[in-house]
Amino acid sequence: MINTQSDHTYDVIIAGGGPVGLFLACELALAKCSVLVLEKNSGSCSVLKQLPFGLRGLNSVSIEALYRRGLLQQMELHKQFKTPHINSNPKPGEKASGLGHFARIPINRAKIDASQWKYRLTDALDTSLFTSMEEIETVLLKRATELGVEIMNGLHITGFTKNPEMIIVQAGETTFTSQWLVGCDGSRSIVRKAAGIEFAGTEPEFTGYSAKVDIADPEKLHTGGITNEKGMYLLSQKDYLIMQDFDGGAFHNSNQPVTREHLQAVLRKIYDADVTINKLHTATTWTDRARQATTYRKGRVLLAGDAAHIHAPLGGQGLNLGIGDGMNLGWKLAAVINGHASDELLNTYFKERYPIGAKVLDWSRAQVAIMKPDPSSRAINAIIRDLMDTSDGATYFAGRISGVNTRYDLGGDHSLVGYSVPAFKLSDGTTINDKMADALWTILAFEHNDALKSIADNERMKYIESTTTETFGLKALLIRPDGFVAWSTNKNADVDVFKRVLSSNQLISF
Ligand SMILES: Cc1cc2nc3c(=O)[nH]c(=O)nc-3n(C[C@H](O)[C@H](O)[C@H](O)COP(=O)(O)OP(=O)(O)OC[C@H]3O[C@@H](n4cnc5c(N)ncnc54)[C@H](O)[C@@H]3O)c2cc1C
Repeated sequence: MINTQSDHTYDVIIAGGGPVGLFLACELALAKCSVLVLEKNSGSCSVLKQLPFGLRGLNSVSIEALYRRGLLQQMELHKQFKTPHINSNPKPGEKASGLGHFARIPINRAKIDASQWKYRLTDALDTSLFTSMEEIETVLLKRATELGVEIMNGLHITGFTKNPEMIIVQAGETTFTSQWLVGCDGSRSIVRKAAGIEFAGTEPEFTGYSAKVDIADPEKLHTGGITNEKGMYLLSQKDYLIMQDFDGGAFHNSNQPVTREHLQAVLRKIYDADVTINKLHTATTWTDRARQATTYRKGRVLLAGDAAHIHAPLGGQGLNLGIGDGMNLGWKLAAVINGHASDELLNTYFKERYPIGAKVLDWSRAQVAIMKPDPSSRAINAIIRDLMDTSDGATYFAGRISGVNTRYDLGGDHSLVGYSVPAFKLSDGTTINDKMADALWTILAFEHNDALKSIADNERMKYIESTTTETFGLKALLIRPDGFVAWSTNKNADVDVFKRVLSSNQLISF
């Protein structure tokens, strides 16, 4: 018998209570939307979300997003882990920088010329930090609950149907109704499949392994790890083994359980030594399959996070992409639900986020291409390593990995438009990053402007006036709820142009 929970139609049902689903739920609830999160797991935290398996690197875009909503301040792990991967694949004398790597070639911090990152200010937040899946989900769950998000665990979504009024989401014997459905249900997304959205891309080159093991004779291994013509292993934390075996993804796809014997055989194949694994505690596999949804929206069904894109976790970008999706989609969907914007605004979600995702997929493919065990790959790898050892090279790679160059194509004639707002210092000693917990539109003026102030005199926009020295010569700018710059000017503000940006480019009415 189907049990319909029809007493309440939610504004949004989010499929999946992983980090992206929870982050998006918080964004929507902050804008007073009613949100139900349906999560198939029971609520206990899987060992794969705890350290060491659950370690995740955050880039500057995620760091800013979490900080701006007051969430980073509740996280602790980043204070303990500066460089958890002892070393990637260093040349003698080379040290891991904590800034990440490209195909396991570490970035040399000393060579980075940060002056090339045009809009980074003295008070900018970090470009990379570490958290764990357990930590980020705990913080987000607490926040979502405080904001009134309903979260139901142990409910496995099996599909949905639609009628002109609502979406009916099926979770086993129970149905739930909402105006909008967002699939944040991971790489095997039921929502994506039920919506008939294509997941286009490339098949894997390798099986990756993460395993907690006891190694009898670790002295037989190269300290830290190695990448060679047979594959890669990394002993990044004590007894935590990561490996990459170029088997075309065959082992992962076979769905066979990972045994101690199998892990040992793979390790001996990659590193030619009779090293012995005594005991296997836990293991998981992954691949470099790279796929992206060909659209992130079908009517009132949307996708975010791994449901919309997957790729190799090399250099860790998936969670960052997903948080970026949530930050971009949250305010737009809320504006449509609250009647402040036409639903055309939601098309800009795909327009802005798809190219960012596609770049990350290519970034992961490029890494795999130069890690492959063939002479051509080794040759290109050596050249990339040389380029990364130059100042321009280190700056380029660090810029891509950290996300500091992330920019949306929002039109406009000022080069700051489309970037995350720089950490402008304010007269009260804080920075603009400290003023965004409310997710409102913000006009930041560096000189008094009555016209702009009066436009901002409404419940969805605020006006901040501040005098500071580091302004890049700007007189005023408009910051979207997700922290990206929608308009900026070095001249006296042309209020007509400003209004046009608000009403047409952003499809929002104030
Ligand atoms: C080894 C490894 C290392 C990584 N390192 C990094 C890193 O350093 N930095 C980084 O940015 N990214 C990293 N990633 C990627 C990152 O973990 C993912 O991109 C991120 O977890 C995606 O979040 P999500 O919420 O979209 O999906 P998930 O984390 O997969 O969450 C989806 C949720 O949906 C639930 N669900 C699924 N199906 C249903 C259903 N039918 N009904 C109800 N609920 C459902 C699941 O139980 C889950 O809770 C790594 C990944 C791996 C494998």
